Amino acid sequence: MELLENPIRPYAWGSRTTIADLVGRPVPAPHPEAELWMGAHPGDPSRIGATPLVDVLARDPAGQLGAEIAERWAGRLPFLMKVLAAEEPLSLQAHPSAEQAAEGYAREERQGIPRDAATRNYPDPTPKPELLCALTEFHALAGFRDPHRTVELLRAVETPGLSPYVELLAADPNREGLRALFTTWITLPQPAIDALMPELLDECVRHVKDHGPFELECRTALELGESYPGDAGVLAGLLLNRLVLGPGEAIFLPAGNLHAYLRGTALEVLANSDNVLRGGLTPKHVDVPELLRVLDFSYGDMTVTTGEPAGARHVYRTTAAEFELSRLEWHGDATPARLPGGTPRILATLDGELTVAAAEEKVVLPRGRAMWIPASDPEVTLTPADTWTRAFAATPGHAR
Ligand SMILES: [Zn+2]
Repeated sequence: MELLENPIRPYAWGSRTTIADLVGRPVPAPHPEAELWMGAHPGDPSRIGATPLVDVLARDPAGQLGAEIAERWAGRLPFLMKVLAAEEPLSLQAHPSAEQAAEGYAREERQGIPRDAATRNYPDPTPKPELLCALTEFHALAGFRDPHRTVELLRAVETPGLSPYVELLAADPNREGLRALFTTWITLPQPAIDALMPELLDECVRHVKDHGPFELECRTALELGESYPGDAGVLAGLLLNRLVLGPGEAIFLPAGNLHAYLRGTALEVLANSDNVLRGGLTPKHVDVPELLRVLDFSYGDMTVTTGEPAGARHVYRTTAAEFELSRLEWHGDATPARLPGGTPRILATLDGELTVAAAEEKVVLPRGRAMWIPASDPEVTLTPADTWTRAFAATPGHAR
């Protein structure tokens, strides 16, 4: 087991305080810091000393990953773990399925689009399921809301310009109606958006003032409208579930799920891929036709889970074969927890400090640090030093 040096991604929506404070650097940081990456992403891998984790894996895939995982994932670590610190909204986006990713990657290779081009949708051929676990109160838009409820929302903020769209959905309150309305809105000519938006946002202001039943949804539309004036993503966001997650609460975003993270700090584990289709709320590359190809228009409440208890761990089980996430918390007692061996593990301490012990090794894992524990290492024992300790462990998933 080895301590990791982890890269920080400086996207503009990040925080100047959260990640700097977590890793023990001066606050505020000179630039926004959005994501702390823990893993073996070829574009920005964690390091053991000066050696990138990807190189460590390449030298001894069977020892580091275990023979089965090494074979299943062609010598690569199938997941990436991140701390995500969002001060401002991220783009409206969805990720492809395995089949869509393979097809999209092959198509863009044939077209000769460089893999690092800003216009490239599929820089790799793999899907990107993600699991997001809130560390603080975390705000997000994710998954289509039940269209009956969305009709109520749109009627509550009804403006003359909006009524044809409300009727479109009210006549067909199902997947097809959602597809029709989303497609109409996201492809609306700019003059039509510019005519509709001020009227809609005025109604949202009124609804917020009156503390109407969709106050939070309207507030979000106003915030997005302020950050991205004239962006069709503000309209599209009205169709999504507005979530407020508490610490430890997680959502799983399978292929085709439309989502936009709004603000808060979260631990995210995802497949080791960069395939993102964006629909708006971003200065980055937006490709609406491609987004429409991968979107899943099923609807309903998102499942929010705090994980299943398994000994001292809470395990977040998903259908993703690439990863499984465990949360470990100690509230005052110092009972050691065990992390089974035989599989590659990344362990990160986010509060307090842990002592990690294997057969003949003992390493202190301070707050804000992460550790690589290869498959060849046995079960490890985790003992907290402080009263309040919180850690996360990621491993490959069990789903096949
Ligand atoms: Zn995403």
